[in-house]
Amino acid sequence: MATSTLAETEVPAKAGTKYVYSFGGGKADGDGKMKDVLGGKGAGLAEMTNAGLPVPPGFTIQTEACREYMRSNGVSKAVDQQMDAALNQLEDLQGQQLGQGENPLLVSVRSGAKFSMPGMMDTILNLGLNDQSVEALAKRSNNPRFAYDSYRRLIQMFGSVVLEIPKSAFEEVFDQKKHQKKAKLDTDLDAKALKEVIEEYKKLVKKHTKKDFPQDPHDQLVMSRDAVFRSWGNDRAKHYRRINNIDDMLGTAVNVQAMVYGNLGDTSGTGVGFTRNPALGDNEFYGEFLMNAQGEDVVAGIRTPVPILELKKIMPDVFNQLREITTRLEKHYRDMQDFEFTIQDGKLYMLQTRNGKRTGRAAVRVAIHMVEEGLITKEEAIFRVEPNQLYDFLVPRLDEKKAKVEVLATGLPASPGAAVGQIVFTADEAVQKAGHGAIKHPVILVRAETTPEDIHGMEVAAGILTSRGGMTSHAAVVTRGMGKCCVAGAGDIHVDEKKREMTAKGQVFKAGDWISLDGTTGRVIKGKLNTLEASPDDPELQKLMGWSEPFRTMKVRANADIPRDAIQARAFGAEGIGLCRTEHMFFGEDKLPHMRAMILAGNEKDRRAALKKLLPLQRKDFIGVFKAMDGFPVTIRTLDPPLHEFLPRREDLMVEIAVLEATKPKSPKLKGLRILLRRVEELHEFNPMLGHRGCRLGITYPEITEMQARAIFEAAVEVSKNGVKVLPEVMIPLTATLKEMANQAAIVRRVAEEVFKEKGKKIDYMVGTMIELPRAALVADEIAKEAEFFSFGTNDLTQTTFGFSRDDINKVLPTYLGEGILKQDPFAVLDQEGVGQLVKMATERGRKTRPNLKVGICGEHGGEPQSVEFCYKTGLNYVSCSPFRVLTARLAAAQAAAADKLKVEGGRTK
Ligand code: PEP
Ligand code: MG
Repeated sequence: MATSTLAETEVPAKAGTKYVYSFGGGKADGDGKMKDVLGGKGAGLAEMTNAGLPVPPGFTIQTEACREYMRSNGVSKAVDQQMDAALNQLEDLQGQQLGQGENPLLVSVRSGAKFSMPGMMDTILNLGLNDQSVEALAKRSNNPRFAYDSYRRLIQMFGSVVLEIPKSAFEEVFDQKKHQKKAKLDTDLDAKALKEVIEEYKKLVKKHTKKDFPQDPHDQLVMSRDAVFRSWGNDRAKHYRRINNIDDMLGTAVNVQAMVYGNLGDTSGTGVGFTRNPALGDNEFYGEFLMNAQGEDVVAGIRTPVPILELKKIMPDVFNQLREITTRLEKHYRDMQDFEFTIQDGKLYMLQTRNGKRTGRAAVRVAIHMVEEGLITKEEAIFRVEPNQLYDFLVPRLDEKKAKVEVLATGLPASPGAAVGQIVFTADEAVQKAGHGAIKHPVILVRAETTPEDIHGMEVAAGILTSRGGMTSHAAVVTRGMGKCCVAGAGDIHVDEKKREMTAKGQVFKAGDWISLDGTTGRVIKGKLNTLEASPDDPELQKLMGWSEPFRTMKVRANADIPRDAIQARAFGAEGIGLCRTEHMFFGEDKLPHMRAMILAGNEKDRRAALKKLLPLQRKDFIGVFKAMDGFPVTIRTLDPPLHEFLPRREDLMVEIAVLEATKPKSPKLKGLRILLRRVEELHEFNPMLGHRGCRLGITYPEITEMQARAIFEAAVEVSKNGVKVLPEVMIPLTATLKEMANQAAIVRRVAEEVFKEKGKKIDYMVGTMIELPRAALVADEIAKEAEFFSFGTNDLTQTTFGFSRDDINKVLPTYLGEGILKQDPFAVLDQEGVGQLVKMATERGRKTRPNLKVGICGEHGGEPQSVEFCYKTGLNYVSCSPFRVLTARLAAAQAAAADKLKVEGGRTK
């Protein structure tokens, strides 16, 4: 009897196609693997039904119907016929009829594509209600307020989604009614008021569509189904697909499911939970619920949910059934589950189950427990932890075991870790209160947003909290760089910087009040919690690493410039240093004056004199690093940055000179400052990143390379005489031609021979280069004639391949990401399509010349899991990253190799 509403001509069906798949009563037509056909949600409902779970029954209209709709602006008769048959089957199963009788069947209509598209398309609840069935529902629930509220929600959802009436028109009516009735909350409107709202909503529908709100439940169903298909093509959904690279032709399925209500009285309720503790990973039932409530009551925070274990007292049978079902679910999916349930009139329904999100610590513990319980194998356990999650072990966390935790707000987990301190509202206050000395008062800097002017306060604060801003806001970016805990964009907090107070959950907090931040989850907690130190040697973490490490074939090194970082890196398991940026060594108080003297020198003789002073200092640094890396290779890069970086800023110098000229014109300092300014001006470049830097420095001032090579080899000989096994690799930065490489390699090799002769001891070493310029990748076969190893400097390689400035990309990036022009920040995640091609090509070309060429990566990407996997597939020998990412890189490299190996041997993939 139903016709597709929009098709003008009949839409041809694909012969023999099964368009509609039923589920309910313990069996489903489809199964969990049919995501292409049923969408993720539909496949999940089928799987849960087949697993014998009490899922509210229903049916899924498959994605082919959506594709039909896209092609023809309507669906074929076959879709309508099969849908009607499925509806009949559902009605029989429930002993109810859609929107009819004393106990009307009400359904929800939801979209569900193959890939989750959160909130992109629309949902309609309580379908089947009309002027008659609402009375039946009022009677049956003995709760007229609930019945009218459900009906007004249906008209509102249907009105906006299906009839395309602006949401605001409904909201206006509703708000007016609240105003008129002096109601503060939605729940303050009684049944009578809601009935009035319904009448006004109906008038609104008539005004906008010239038709009445459809009273026929079947018409409601057909129109809603078609609206879901149309919503696949709405701008939001299209935009989401573009960004996430989801094919427009996949289409969405439509899930029609019997409604169940948790608010039908004292034997009804609703809740959410996890089969294990998602924060710590302990094997304990975890969650909360509310009796006589709907899902949104839990979210709205009007009533406080009750811990799930309380359900055992209230409804022991339901509790036991829930426990039994969720245990079974965990066994079925072989992973920790996050579930939603509703109890309607004492009967339990499972609404959703999926693999639960968890912290890094919980991920490790759950994986280990599941191996011990025989649920998964050790090989599978390796893949149960996201490599990035291991960072959780490297930062402090809140000790919540014995504490009373009152969450004031949840913002963005902008920079992980924990911070506990007293509130301050300005950067100056932070400095005043925190102090610089040994006795530090921990403070939390609370701002609406931070700006570069707050930097001094951010430096001394234990943690940062902002009420505005996203994951790439100033606060987020800067704190991540500092390794400091930050919660950003906590919108539920109001910061009044003038009054110097913060309001959250109706409570006012003043400067000096204690708060605790959890930068890993984004929680802002009232009061002073204790913190637990970072624990990189956590036994469970070590156990998991012990399972993954045998698979790893690619080495993991660290980027470290000073002995302290090298020691840290070793503790995290680094197998050498992949990049020692020697320039960082020159910023020390003892070295900077000599460095400046070297730069200011007008001739080679003066330059050599300054370098001579630097030599012993540099040698001392290398000795420290070599000792920390006893037995492991250390790649030392010759000087790379433009020299002006070691001098004061031009503007600062000009101000200093001007002030002196005005106040102490005879000051002896003036002459030196003027010389310095002249040199700064001489060194000025329009594009310093493309300027006098990298090997260009060592070629124009060979004595710099000579000094550095001497410091390296003298240090190597000295430590080796003391029994340290040293493997130096001297790395020339930013080469583009074979001749550049040959020029610098010749200097290094000559100095090496000189030192070995002087000291009477030879050391094995290598000379290689960074590949940071597209030209270097193109002529890698040539460069490999001189270079004994390559290390991809993918920071510069990304900069020069895209032509994006690595320091200024944030001006462009938010728009590029928003528009879907870029999927990810190419400086964070290696652009495999473009930059990756250069990496691959250079590796192949280099190895053509030198088959055993050692190849690594030392750009930021070396610690990013997707990029690490790419490096593995490209055949790199090692990745090198900052010490705090070494654990992540080790697990990512092990996962890449294990996926490869297990696929071959056991057919198992991640
Ligand atoms: C690079 O360019 O990737 C690199 C590691 O060098 P730097 O970041 O020091 O320029
Ligand atoms: Mg570089």
